[in-house]
Amino acid sequence: MAGLEDLYREIVLDHHRSPRNRGELAVPPACKADGFNPLCGDEITVYIQLDGDTITDIKMGGTGCSISQASGSMMSSAVKGRTVAQVRALTKAFKEMMSVHEKDLGGDGSEAEQGIQAEEAPAEEVKMGDLEALQGVVRFPVRIKCATLSWNTLAEAIKAAQAAEVN
Ligand code: ZN
Repeated sequence: MAGLEDLYREIVLDHHRSPRNRGELAVPPACKADGFNPLCGDEITVYIQLDGDTITDIKMGGTGCSISQASGSMMSSAVKGRTVAQVRALTKAFKEMMSVHEKDLGGDGSEAEQGIQAEEAPAEEVKMGDLEALQGVVRFPVRIKCATLSWNTLAEAIKAAQAAEVN
């Protein structure tokens, strides 16, 4: 297992050292949202360009701990070019990856419970790719909000973009 953990650590470090999609987009036509994690002091700004149902461009700004910034970089490369529906499925899968373990840490993470969740997994397979590298974060519950901050901020940006399209 050490080999896998090393690989995961390397992926997270790589995103921290060379964050993808760093920068800003002009608003409008892009939409932006700001996210803040008071537990850690992380700040994330997400800019997205929505074309119909597809995120054609995404940029990230912000400062904070390595987990929050690496997670933002990984999120941005995972969702660029995807449809809103695909992004929702990916967000759900990512949060489940976090919350399942969060529950486990509560002491009630029985195998039966995990079995049920496996059965309820959506038929459509969601490819997590590099995002799986963040699953080690769940061993540090205080950092889970660092890892999910960019995803929550992305959801706000999508909401803003969809509201702008309607108007
Ligand atoms: Zn943090």
